[in-house]
Amino acid sequence: MVWGYEFVNLNDDQKHARRRLLELYPAVAEWSVLVVIALFQLSFLLSWLLKYALEDERPGSPSFSKRVSGSAAWLKNARQHWARLRWWARKPVMRNWGSRGEWIFGSLWAVWLLYLCVVDTGNDYLHLTKRFGIIGASQLPFQYLLAMRAPYSPVQFLTRMSHEELKKSHEILGRIIYFLFILHGIFYMNFFVQSGFLAKRIKDKDVIFGIISLTLFIVVNTTAMENVRRWNYRVFYVSHILIANLIIVPLYLHVTHIRPYVLQVIVVNTLHAAFRFQRLTHYAGTVKLLPGTNLVEIRIPLNAGEAALKWKPGQHVYLSLPSGKAYSTSAKDQFVLRHQANPFTVASVPSQDRELLLVARAINGNTKQLAKLAHSLSPGTDEAPNIPLALEGPYGASTRLPDFSTFDRILLVAGGVGATFIMPIYRSILDSTDHTLGTQVRFIWAVRKLSEAQWASLPSHEDEDADDSEAVSSSHRSVVEVCITRPSGPNLQMGGPGDDIEMAEDEQLLSLEEQMGKPRKGMAVKEGRPRVSKIVDEVCSKGTRIAVLVCGPQSLTEELSRTVESWVQKGSDIYWHEETFGW
Ligand SMILES: Cc1cc2nc3c(=O)[nH]c(=O)nc-3n(C[C@H](O)[C@H](O)[C@H](O)COP(=O)(O)OP(=O)(O)OC[C@H]3O[C@@H](n4cnc5c(N)ncnc54)[C@H](O)[C@@H]3O)c2cc1C
Repeated sequence: MVWGYEFVNLNDDQKHARRRLLELYPAVAEWSVLVVIALFQLSFLLSWLLKYALEDERPGSPSFSKRVSGSAAWLKNARQHWARLRWWARKPVMRNWGSRGEWIFGSLWAVWLLYLCVVDTGNDYLHLTKRFGIIGASQLPFQYLLAMRAPYSPVQFLTRMSHEELKKSHEILGRIIYFLFILHGIFYMNFFVQSGFLAKRIKDKDVIFGIISLTLFIVVNTTAMENVRRWNYRVFYVSHILIANLIIVPLYLHVTHIRPYVLQVIVVNTLHAAFRFQRLTHYAGTVKLLPGTNLVEIRIPLNAGEAALKWKPGQHVYLSLPSGKAYSTSAKDQFVLRHQANPFTVASVPSQDRELLLVARAINGNTKQLAKLAHSLSPGTDEAPNIPLALEGPYGASTRLPDFSTFDRILLVAGGVGATFIMPIYRSILDSTDHTLGTQVRFIWAVRKLSEAQWASLPSHEDEDADDSEAVSSSHRSVVEVCITRPSGPNLQMGGPGDDIEMAEDEQLLSLEEQMGKPRKGMAVKEGRPRVSKIVDEVCSKGTRIAVLVCGPQSLTEELSRTVESWVQKGSDIYWHEETFGW
């Protein structure tokens, strides 16, 4: 009837045999994730072996690529091929359409699951129809694990990837599960219509709960689409979290065969909620608008013994704003304040600064509320009162950053508020690297105007009187090279959706720009966009083992990535980390 499949009548034994296959293949589908995990472990082992095998061969010069010979040569070639392959896979298929690697992996996984849907179904149409549903359901526990924010997630542990890095896989698997459920629904409807059972079966509980589940899946997938997310992130977020929890009920009531998977989802969800609760802490801190910018600065002093003192540079937290009549009178604002937590990177080094510093660019929903709150708390003054703030975290991939003392050149690039990620890492690198080994650090920070850099705590310098502009290449006196990309003055435009949140007085802005016209110690200020390719060429031509870390707008990251890739193609050994603030 359809691709050789028919509605067949089965006797009890045949139905029993079908049921056994309907248990076997979803189990295979669920546990085949272990193969992927095993591949990750294999790649870690191979990278480790390559690293140590080549360690002794590494000469102290960038001409490494030409000198190695003998037994190490093939290892070096293997490492270079692997690095090139990773760069190739990282490239987007089309802008904002995901990377080649994601497409290849997603397609392979989809084909594998479709194979498990079809294998051993013979010509039994209903068997195929049920398989689509149960194979889709078998992926749900892993799908919920991928969404786990807490670092105790086994997937994060085994893949060494953070929640932010795993989000893409969560999105891809979500689409595959959705596709399988849609096939399951369509095939069943076709069966009901063609066999004349529709009027009767549509009243049955299993069908009703099946339709409810499918409807919820359609809503969750539609609101998760990029266009909807960009149009209104809150619609996506609230519907996603709400439905992800709600859908468990109709799925459980749909049919008994999928209950083991639904129960696993309940376990994952409960653990996730407990881990998140365990990471939620209430503090008291100040919220202040930075003059001449649309940046909101949140400072939370830390007492001795607080766990946050041990947080690693580059980690981020989810900030919830205080709710209650004291902070807003509008019911809508109250709801938003209470229910939306946004991620922000800790821009301080908590162990040194004894405080948590968050810097948030006011853009749209919650950050706009944050700016309004800051404005109402300290209108036109420098003093801000302490208010209650809830932070959930810390989270993030920065706990898995490598030991930077093993690199001889480190290039850090930040765009705008992306320096909240780079600055603490820069400071900790300067503190921890052994300068006698000659590690050279360059930090390029592009900002639209100098006042946007005012929040930064810069490392203290041994030689305070020396001329910073000459110190760029010396690691122990490295300075932050701040590039001002827009002319200074009162008419500065932000160019983004947050333009209207420029709340500082013009006079305040002018005096600040004047003050900061004289660069602070540890900063070398230049005008114009940073010449990314020239900087990368300078760094890469002198180093043998190079680390490049970037956090900023997509255009900056893409330009940097293109130039760095040209050096990877030439055989340079480059560690790359790109942190993104959106998705
Ligand atoms: C790991 C990480 C660290 C960040 N650190 C900083 C920082 O230090 N300073 C800074 O100014 N910005 C940072 N951002 C970006 C910041 O979170 C968004 O700009 C902010 O949430 C926008 O909020 P909104 O209310 O204006 O917009 P909304 O309309 O609420 O959302 C717009 C965009 O904000 C992002 N966003 C909002 N909530 C979340 C969430 N719960 N999870 C993931 N993304 C979300 C999404 O990209 C979304 O498209 C970071 C983002 C991430 C993912």
